[in-house]
Amino acid sequence: MILTHENYHSKEANIEYMGVSQYKSFRKCEADTMHWLTTGNQEDTDALMVGKYVHKWSEGPEAFEQFKADNSGYIYNKKGEPYKSFIKADEMINCLKSDDKVKFYLQGSKEVILTAELFGTPWKIMIDVDNDKLNYLLDLKTTKSISEWGWVWSPDESRNIKVPFIEEWQYLIQAAVYSEVERIARDRDKPKDFYMIAVSKEKIPDHAIIDLTDPVRMEAELLKIKENLPHILKVKSGEIEPARCEHCDYCRSTKKVDKIIHYTELREAW
Ligand SMILES: [Zn+2]
Repeated sequence: MILTHENYHSKEANIEYMGVSQYKSFRKCEADTMHWLTTGNQEDTDALMVGKYVHKWSEGPEAFEQFKADNSGYIYNKKGEPYKSFIKADEMINCLKSDDKVKFYLQGSKEVILTAELFGTPWKIMIDVDNDKLNYLLDLKTTKSISEWGWVWSPDESRNIKVPFIEEWQYLIQAAVYSEVERIARDRDKPKDFYMIAVSKEKIPDHAIIDLTDPVRMEAELLKIKENLPHILKVKSGEIEPARCEHCDYCRSTKKVDKIIHYTELREAW
């Protein structure tokens, strides 16, 4: 299957290829992931649409206008006014627009699709900005906040710890996979640098250009993927029954009580 911008997010593409969001989704809840992989139903959440909106702006005026026309029912109310989240999205775009450094780093090829085999399975990536001249890949991210830290479960310390948004949302997994797939697909010795332009959804949007280049961490992230992948691929092929996390929307919506639990067994959900 040859990937295009039209079929990149399709059910068929997700079945044939592994991707970063699919991998992260399998790690979070196998049952939910198998549900959306087999039905092809992955809801367009508001956050996802706002992200797409800001991305389309970065691609250029033509792509942006086309996106707005294709999704007018989602963006505008009956009076033709944008809904609250898209008024916010426009503020985020204005924040990025008014910074020359951001405009400089957004230069390059946009939405570049590449594939490569990694740990015995084909992967697909779509790079927001690929700059050959300055040798970097760049990802554009919309986020709740750049400076607020979030809680995540630390298996090493067996407790919740507070981490920056980059760790909370596991963006180093994306940096590692994108860098490695691009390196293999283009047959280069060393991966390109990996940057992120982040813009926040706060009342007054914050923004930053963040360097995620870290060869040691990249190697560690790829090693973890290598270890987790054989199990994930067995679940994906139907060889192993998918495990339920019992916390996500899908698990809650399909939950049947199988035993009474004692009140001391109640655990905090992540
Ligand atoms: Zn679940």
